[in-house]
Amino acid sequence: MSVDPKRVIADLEELRALTSDENGAQRVAWSPTWLKAQSWFETRFKSLPVEHHYDAAGNLWVTLQGASDRALLLGGHLDSVPNGGWLDGCLGVLTALEVMRAIAEDHNGRPPVTVRLVDWADEEGARFGRSLFGSSAFAGNHSIAADRVRTDRDGETLEATLRECGFDIDRIGDAAIERKNACAYLELHIEQGPVLEELQLPLGVVLGTKGVERHAITFRGQEAHSGSTPMAVRRDALAAAAKLALEIRPIARKHPDSVATMGSVKTFPGIVTAVVGRCETTLDMRDLDASVLASMFEEAQDASRRFAAEERCSVEWSRIWSIEPIPFHPELIELCDQAVRETAGTSHRLPSGPLHDAAEVARAGIPTVMMFTQSLNGLSHNKLEDTKKEHLELAAVAFSRLAEKTMRWIAS
Ligand SMILES: [Zn+2]
Repeated sequence: MSVDPKRVIADLEELRALTSDENGAQRVAWSPTWLKAQSWFETRFKSLPVEHHYDAAGNLWVTLQGASDRALLLGGHLDSVPNGGWLDGCLGVLTALEVMRAIAEDHNGRPPVTVRLVDWADEEGARFGRSLFGSSAFAGNHSIAADRVRTDRDGETLEATLRECGFDIDRIGDAAIERKNACAYLELHIEQGPVLEELQLPLGVVLGTKGVERHAITFRGQEAHSGSTPMAVRRDALAAAAKLALEIRPIARKHPDSVATMGSVKTFPGIVTAVVGRCETTLDMRDLDASVLASMFEEAQDASRRFAAEERCSVEWSRIWSIEPIPFHPELIELCDQAVRETAGTSHRLPSGPLHDAAEVARAGIPTVMMFTQSLNGLSHNKLEDTKKEHLELAAVAFSRLAEKTMRWIAS
């Protein structure tokens, strides 16, 4: 195995120097810095026997033709959030490149199956609020009508921005053509959470991405004077909301991997001398198991009605967004487990709370698995994001092993 983990780190450092400032990475999709990152990346595979092109949604594909057209896909994303970290997304792309280089070398330029690297366009959705842009177009889950009217903070439309970069929003669905012959998809990513660090493990196997139920919940009571209204007769909408904020914790804790967050609370009229007449909140619940997620949703609704009744308020729910849990492929999970075990001695399986491009690929019916490497202090999406160099090196070795195993799996 000729994978060189030190080269991955050197590449990551070079990309960081080229596309970051004192506040962190600035590779926001469709921006000049992102385009600069892509041009730099193109120089990195120049000496390899590969073909490359951008698809209709702006995803970059680098193909090493194998003896068979059946293809192994390796992916990540070069784009970042503003003031982002040096590893989120690009660790996957640059490790995939090193693995592809090693495969080309080990198999004299012609591996048993075709190997394709993909750099997904606009994973983060940082500027236009549309995450997983390129991978959803690939998967056939794009939303052109909604995307056309998306604007950034300055009123610039996504449609116009795409056009400036050479892409036509009406054609992004053509990216689906890249699904041809795709037999498996692998993605390495930093964990972006504290689980592996707590277990003192460098690497983990991702079981899938959690489903999300995201709702707006509004409690309505009666605005009233804070001096003249006796406690016994108040209809305080904040009191009902506050009870729910506490109750979602035991609801989530019944299940090992569930999370529930009330991230926003707005009170009206929102002044110091009035009982709260209306309280608008949000709830975000996640789990890898659809039935667990459904039961948490039901329990939270029941609790909200109970607390509303106790405070003589009404309550109304409206869904902001939801997505089903997306489990990864059982046989690829096994292969990933083997690769991690052979490299690090121990393995651990965990679900991903954040969504990833891999979820879109899996939804398209392509067998998929992700590997995580530990994040220091569980931090991501800011310049403090970091991973120990020795863990990045282990990740490159393990990911390379996973790629070899998956090529054999595809070939058999
Ligand atoms: Zn990412």
